[in-house]
Amino acid sequence: MGDLRHAIFAGGFSAIASSRADRWLRPFAQGCGLILTFHHVRPDAPGGGAHAVAQGQFRPNRSLEVTPAFLEATLEALAHAGFECVSMDEVPERLDASRRGRPFAVITFDDGYRDNVEHAWPILRRRNVPWTLYVVPRFADGRGVLWWIDLERAIAGADSVVFRVGEDVLSLQTATPAQKAAAFAGVARRLRAAGGKELRGFVMSLAEREGRDPAATSRELCADWEDIAALARDPLVTIGAHSMSHPVLSRETAETVLEELGESRRVIAGRLRRPVRHLAYPHGDREAVGVREHVLARAAGFTTAVTTRPGHLWPAHRAHCHALPRLSMNGRHQTDAALRALLSGVPFLAGDLAQRLHAATVAGG
Ligand SMILES: [Zn+2]
Repeated sequence: MGDLRHAIFAGGFSAIASSRADRWLRPFAQGCGLILTFHHVRPDAPGGGAHAVAQGQFRPNRSLEVTPAFLEATLEALAHAGFECVSMDEVPERLDASRRGRPFAVITFDDGYRDNVEHAWPILRRRNVPWTLYVVPRFADGRGVLWWIDLERAIAGADSVVFRVGEDVLSLQTATPAQKAAAFAGVARRLRAAGGKELRGFVMSLAEREGRDPAATSRELCADWEDIAALARDPLVTIGAHSMSHPVLSRETAETVLEELGESRRVIAGRLRRPVRHLAYPHGDREAVGVREHVLARAAGFTTAVTTRPGHLWPAHRAHCHALPRLSMNGRHQTDAALRALLSGVPFLAGDLAQRLHAATVAGG
């Protein structure tokens, strides 16, 4: 997403905050609960952060990372707004329409990054907040491909790039931050439209050219099974599944989708010796996940499945526990205004802003 669109998006949050719409519309807009999505939680890299983004630095995956301070601010804002943090296990029951009481919030993390263990876990433990980590067995094995990160790195240090995706050869100028951003967006779009085989081929050819192991990024960034087993021993932590290899599910056959989902549930349950009831669809937006995936998630044995489609939870979701919306905690909008707007539900009253929120859930998912 370009800088202008981010500015418009941020403007939406501050307009909601300055008009105090988050207060006067909240009784209509706030559901009975919500599920928050985090990816990376880590301090800003030296020279990084909001300032660097404002200066137009190339950081296309910035949306997927928040600071530990913003995680703390989020938990503060939830408490201030009266939300009760509960585990994913409680969600179906909490959606019961006859139930009255405080709104609930569920804290979730996708992909299983090691920085969650290092930076998020201590904060959540200190505040006694339950949370769910959705893990990808191939990432935990150190054999996964995180193509959105490999793509960012390949473009970051080059003035021009030539990528092969399937039969296509993409030759792109990447000298300026604007060229890099356009190249990333174009290739990411092409890769998301590709099937798993083309995606793996892309990552393999990139790694081969750079003389490294294609799975190196997953070993560098993702928690291993030892980390995950340690988390699972914490009664506040629920381990959920996020598919075996993080494909774009809509691009795969029904057999492959069922295998990706069911096998991830079995593998994690076997490793941790406990049932796995909850799924987060990889990518999870409307292009990647539809009714077929909701049906297959249920068939694969999951009690709930979360998307990245934005929205609060309402009692009507009780009948749609395999298509639950979430709110992405977007690293480009780490402000009190954004938090207040998201928790109020007001952005989701206006379809237009909801569309922008939807667009803000980027490639990585
Ligand atoms: Zn993911």
